[in-house]
This record gives sequence, C-alpha cells and structure tokens, in this order.
Amino acid sequence: MSSMHSLQSFTKALTAFCFIVFIYFFIPESFSKTSVLLQYIIIVATVLILMLYHNKVLGELSLTESSSQNQEASADILTIESNSSTKDLYKSLTSLVIATTKSINPNCKSAIYIIDPSKHIFTLQAGKASEFADSISAGNDEIKKYIIGKKKLHQKEYPDIWADLFFGQNWRGSECAIFSPINLRGNLAGFILTSIDHFTDATDKEMEVLDKMGDFISFGLENLDSLDKHILGEESKSFILEILFNLDFKSDSQNIFNQIKYLIRTFFQYDRVTISIRKETENRRKHDKGIISIIRLTDGEKDEFIEGAEFPTNGSLHGLPVINGTSLLTANWKTSYPNIVRFKSTESENQNYRSVMASPVIIEGESRGSIVLERLSERPFTNSELKDLELIGQVLGSALHWRYEYKKIHTNATHDGLSGLLNHQTFKERFNDEIQRAARFQQKMAVMMFDLDKFKKVNDTLGHQYGDYVIQTVAKIMIDNVRAVDVVARYGGEEFAIILINTTAAMSNMVAQRIVDNIAEYEFSMDSIDTKLTISGGMSEYPTHTEDIKELIEFADQAMYATKQRGGNGITIHDSTNKND
Ligand code: GH3
Ligand code: MG
Ligand code: MG
Repeated sequence: MSSMHSLQSFTKALTAFCFIVFIYFFIPESFSKTSVLLQYIIIVATVLILMLYHNKVLGELSLTESSSQNQEASADILTIESNSSTKDLYKSLTSLVIATTKSINPNCKSAIYIIDPSKHIFTLQAGKASEFADSISAGNDEIKKYIIGKKKLHQKEYPDIWADLFFGQNWRGSECAIFSPINLRGNLAGFILTSIDHFTDATDKEMEVLDKMGDFISFGLENLDSLDKHILGEESKSFILEILFNLDFKSDSQNIFNQIKYLIRTFFQYDRVTISIRKETENRRKHDKGIISIIRLTDGEKDEFIEGAEFPTNGSLHGLPVINGTSLLTANWKTSYPNIVRFKSTESENQNYRSVMASPVIIEGESRGSIVLERLSERPFTNSELKDLELIGQVLGSALHWRYEYKKIHTNATHDGLSGLLNHQTFKERFNDEIQRAARFQQKMAVMMFDLDKFKKVNDTLGHQYGDYVIQTVAKIMIDNVRAVDVVARYGGEEFAIILINTTAAMSNMVAQRIVDNIAEYEFSMDSIDTKLTISGGMSEYPTHTEDIKELIEFADQAMYATKQRGGNGITIHDSTNKND
C-alpha cells in the first residue's frame, strides 16, 4: 500500500471547480443573478486551483490518497475538510448540483457519490441524507453493473438493491433510478444517482441530459487532473485573488476571454496579447476547416488586428501554435521564423515586435487557438512563464469547451427537438419569469394558444412525416411573425403557445391574425404532395383577465376552442364578461 500524498488537495479544489463550472453552464440563461454569481465563483475557483500550486495559500487541506489493489477503486477521495472558504464553496456547489437536477425535472432527486478507496465505499457527497444512503459498498457488483452500464433500476424489480441505495421511505413501486458514472483516469470515481418518482416521466431527453452530466463531470475531472502535471513554480501570485474579487462581472457577463485577460495581465508583462481561435467554417470540405483564425481578444498595443479581425492560420506567427500544436518562445521571432508573417502579408510594419511567447489553446485535446504575448524589445520571456501560459491555454480551452457543451445540453434540455421552439416545461418557466417582470414594470402581456385544425387528417392521409413537416413549418411561421423578445413554444403535439411581451391583447390581434392568415395561405409541400391547413387561436391578457399563469393559459385555451366552434381559422380574445367565449 503506498501512501501518495500528491494530488489530494488539488483534486478537492478541482472537483469543486468542475462542479461549479458544470452547474454554471447548466443554469438557464434567464437566471441572470445566479449566473453572475456563479461566474464569479468559477473564476475564483480557477484561481484557487492555480494558487494551490503557485502559492499554497489554501493552507493545509489534509487528505490521504490511497491506492487500492482494486483497479476500479484507485481514485481520489474528495472530501473537503479544513479551510473554511473551500468548505463554503463546496457546500454551495453541492446544493446547486441538486437544484439543477430538479430544474430538469421537478420529480428528480439527485445525489453525488464519490469513491473512498481506503474504505472501499462510495460516499454521499451531495444530496439529502434522509433520502439517500450515506455510503454504498464499492464491492457491490450488482450495483456496479448498473452504474457502469448506465442502466435504469426499477424499485419494483429489485427492491433489495433499491433499499441499499435509498433510505427507507414508502415506495410506490413506480420509482426508477438512473446512474450517471463519473470517471477519472479511466476508472470509476463515482456516480450521480437520480431517482424519478414515476419512471414513465423519465423521457429520453432527460436521460440524455443526466447521462451528459456524468460525462461532463468526468471530463472536468480528467481535464483538470492533467493540469497538475504542467504546473511548476512557487512564485507568489496572491494579488490575483484581489483583482478577481474586484471584477465587475455584471458589465460583461459572458466573456470568458476577458476573464482570461485579467489572469494574463496579472501573470505577465507584455506589450501586446492576442487570443485567436480557429474559425470553424460550416460548409467547407473537412481539410479546409480552420484555415482562417479570428481574433477574439487583444490587450496592450493596438494595431489593425483588432477583435473580430481574421487572418490565415497557415503561414502566420499567430497561427503557428495552432498548426504545430506546440508553444513557442523566442527573443526575436523574425530571425527564428523567417518564412512567416505576423498576421498577414499585407500588414504594415509600424510595430516591430521581437520577443514572443505563445501557447496553443487546447480544446478537446486539439489545438484550436493561440494565446500570443509580444514585446517590442528582445527581452525574453522565461521558460517558467511559458509553463504558466500553457496552463492558461488549457484553462481557456476547457472553459470554451464547457461553454460549447453547455450550449448543446442547454438547448437540448429546453427546446423541442422537432420544431426548435421552447418546450412545454421551459415555456412555463419563462412565462413565470415574464409575469414577474411585467408585474415589476406594470406592463401588460398577451398570451396566445394555437391548435392546428383537423391535423389528425394530415397524419392519417399524408403520413406522420408529413405531419412533422407541417409542425416544423408552422413553428417557423410563428417565429417569423413575432419579435425576438416574444416567447414561442410548442405547448403540445400540434399546439403552440406565444407570449407577446409588453402589449395588450387588442394590440396583439394583428400579429395573431397575421399568423392565422399566413398559415391559411401557406402552400405546404413535401415530396410533391401539396396541402393547405388552418389554425385556431385564442388570447388572454395579463393582468387584465387574471394574474394567474394557469388561468391565463386556460382562458386563452377556451378562447381557442371558441374559434374552433366557429369553424376554425381565426382568433378569439377571451371575454371576461362572457363565460362561454
Ligand atoms: P381539431 O381541429 O379539433 O384540433 O382536430 P385535430 O385533428 O387537430 O385533433 P387533435 O388536436 O385531437 O389531434 C392532434 C393530433 O396531432 C393527434 C396526434 O396524432 C398528432 N400529433 C401530435 N404530435 C405530433 C407530432 O409530433 N407529429 C405528428 N406528425 N403528429 C402529431
Ligand atoms: Mg390538439
Ligand atoms: Mg388540432
């Protein structure tokens, strides 16, 4: 049994960091206060990780890493014990993990288990102790089969295994558990355990999102775990914290690049820094990909190459780290690389940069961008500075990748796959937000419900695929007829809901009528089969008819049925004096 003490504290901090990053990216964009706060936590956590190596300001985070003979158990223990700020960080992030699963589906209950190899158990890291077992034996092969196989476990089928996982409650027999494994260095390090009250409610989409959550945390662990191998040096950099604490994230809430800029400013002296990312061109052949790079950030001396400017990745100094996938360090780049240009051959020669240090930005193990620091003098950057820059290149790459992954997961979780519109659940959340906003600013809103007329006939006579095509087309017509601020959702099969912000029902009538008319006039055509279709709509008004979200939908729905009763193809505004509208 060896007693390696190497990675423990780092692993704790990085776990905290990963979880926060993950949660931050998972929070719906509308929760702006939360995301500002989380952004803030992320950057502080990034710094904590850096400082663990550079400064050791975190104090004594005591942990013992033990390696087990069992291959699968050779992961780190992730219990945060000592430093109070780390403890708080860990506490807040774990409760956020749980809140996030709930936001995917209110019936979800989640817990996170991380392995404790010394005791050969998985211990509960987050989740209610009254609902989940404190620990689960890592030697329980039956359970491990479920974790590794990402299999659903139904309470009814395996009540004994179920009882090992969850605390004794009254089970209805319809409960189902979902496992999302967390891996580190190829080994099972833990898992997210989610229970859903009625397994019929666990849609494929929710399964996919939960599955991604495990992959996501694994990715974070793997990625940041590898960083430790790159970090050297004991130089004091505690003032980074102070700068970061004073950052105003509200002014520019989404800019990862700017956050990195502050890190770079703190670490290095330079005349100019440029961060470029390869432009992924969509409709080009594969080998053309990334032929152009785009500047995403500059700091220091200004020239014609500003943010947004493009340059060829090949044959340029700033593209070199991308092409070679390696960093570079030179006191005079023109003598070291005589055959390339800085950005473009047409560049004016008024700025003569000499000393250059550059690192690739590694995204998903691939070099997709560069961070280039330039000095007008020949004063060289040091090897230890290069190590720091490479680390920043990796942190930036991870952050960009997480953001991209988040976007995918977020879109998948909040939008309907067929129409691309908001899904039912997200519509209700947005509706709630909009009601609160309207109440605060004393604004009115129009709520519309639409249902296609005799849609069953389309499916029955022209086929389900044709029906799908109609739904997609109708969604597009709706989006085209409202403003970007308005909310359009697929409420059900062929039912749509729209909220028009800061307007009355009377004023919205024109928009609603335009949607009805555009659909009635549209020549639907697929596989040379043409058809025509109509839609019926109903409308209610906030707060005039009611302030209650459920009633607003009900009133609009009743008005929509009133349209149907009149033969469809029209719009009706709810009449609060007429109970039968
Ligand atoms: P009404 O005029 O009264 O609205 O009649 P309708 O035929 O539209 O009746 P109803 O609203 O009950 O029928 C909706 C149909 O929409 C039933 C269902 O098969 C179909 N549907 C629901 N979701 C989808 C979908 O995603 N794709 C396709 N092609 N059809 C769907
Ligand atoms: Mg219907
Ligand atoms: Mg219908």
